[in-house]
Amino acid sequence: MVPFPVQGTINPLINLAHLLSSRGVFITFVNTEWSHKCMAKAAHNDDKLSTSTFKFLTIPDGLPPDRGRLSNSAEYATAVQNLGPVLEYHLLRSLSDETPPYTCIITETFMSCTMKWPTGWDCPESSFGQLEESKRADKVITCLPGNLPPLLPTDLLSFYRATDTSDVLFQHCLRESQFQSKGDYVLVNTFDELEAPDTVSALSCNGRPALAVGPVFLPNFLEGRDINRWASLLEQDESCLKWLDAHHPTSVIYVSFGSIAVKSNEQLEELARGLEKSEHPFLWVLRMDIAGGTPATLPEGFEERTKDRGLIVKWAPQVRVLSHPSVGGFLTHCGWNSCLESMSMGIPMLGWPYFCDQFLDCRFCKDVWKIGIDLEGVDVDENVVVTREEIEKGVRRLMEGPKARELRKRGMELKEAAFKAVPQ
Ligand code: UDP
Repeated sequence: MVPFPVQGTINPLINLAHLLSSRGVFITFVNTEWSHKCMAKAAHNDDKLSTSTFKFLTIPDGLPPDRGRLSNSAEYATAVQNLGPVLEYHLLRSLSDETPPYTCIITETFMSCTMKWPTGWDCPESSFGQLEESKRADKVITCLPGNLPPLLPTDLLSFYRATDTSDVLFQHCLRESQFQSKGDYVLVNTFDELEAPDTVSALSCNGRPALAVGPVFLPNFLEGRDINRWASLLEQDESCLKWLDAHHPTSVIYVSFGSIAVKSNEQLEELARGLEKSEHPFLWVLRMDIAGGTPATLPEGFEERTKDRGLIVKWAPQVRVLSHPSVGGFLTHCGWNSCLESMSMGIPMLGWPYFCDQFLDCRFCKDVWKIGIDLEGVDVDENVVVTREEIEKGVRRLMEGPKARELRKRGMELKEAAFKAVPQ
């Protein structure tokens, strides 16, 4: 198994890896040296993942060790794109008496560097490969196969909206989309209830079956295997679970923007003030690198004023937080894992997308799956500051009144459907 080496793609693949290895399939999970080091540090070198049928293979990603991987996406994507020969070299070298020969590669969108190999794993956004012609269209896109609800140009991967066609990530996506029809199977981390009847099967082309296999974290979580914890690149602060114990059911809003999104200090100040004005208890994940290169600063006295109802952590055990009875809403960047984890736990979302597929995920949570709302007409472009009033209004709509009740009811339905999707 070869993930793109960031948290949001390591998590689903390592969960799938464990589902397969617990059924006797021997899995070699390819980590870059950087992600392996982060994992080891976060788990205090306590490797709870390796078993007799699961082992890591660590390869260099070609960047100097001290280079920020997430602070320069274009540089990182280019390095990963060139990993093919290094991967091949290390795979061949790793064969030994204990490691059976490789029979199949499971990888994902944006990993065409593995494409010499036979099998592919695609995320939902792979459907965008079929959208090349419509990508700049100033109209609703209805030409998609598989009964997909019509898409808007703003639903496209954010990289496709670059105005400069020489943009590295734009070119990277175009290049990668050409590989989407390769592979023998398409595995999609979704479940039937979320998709129109033919949507997943529409991803099968050239006779390769497409299967909905998600949510892949859920069977492990239900069996008490907290894979996300051991695969975490940052140490999860578990003290927040105890803090949640002291709050009323569904009273806390959980705030997190995943592992990559950044916000300016001006924006963080508005967010802090919006949370404060909303008067709801909050658990806020403020990553060390959330403000890019500079340390995050919060309004003076904010932590003191909110200390009875607010907690800030650097990184949380997200799935356990979302499954905690005190949590009633999630202010999220709508990364696909966060959406799936929230839906599976029945938690309504207030979407504030940042990049990539998050705009589509946010709109579908609101318009199609009806378990989310957005910031209603607010421009969420990263160069525009969302005001404290807009944030307060969104939080109140998510947490109070008839809309909140409707969302929670829908949350319960989706939770039930996600649990039903877990093989018995
Ligand atoms: N996550 C976590 N702790 C946090 C925030 C996020 O463990 O404090 C996990 C989360 O459960 C999810 C992943 O990190 O599995 C983030 O993936 P997602 O697709 O939501 O966003 P990305 O980080 O790729 O933008």
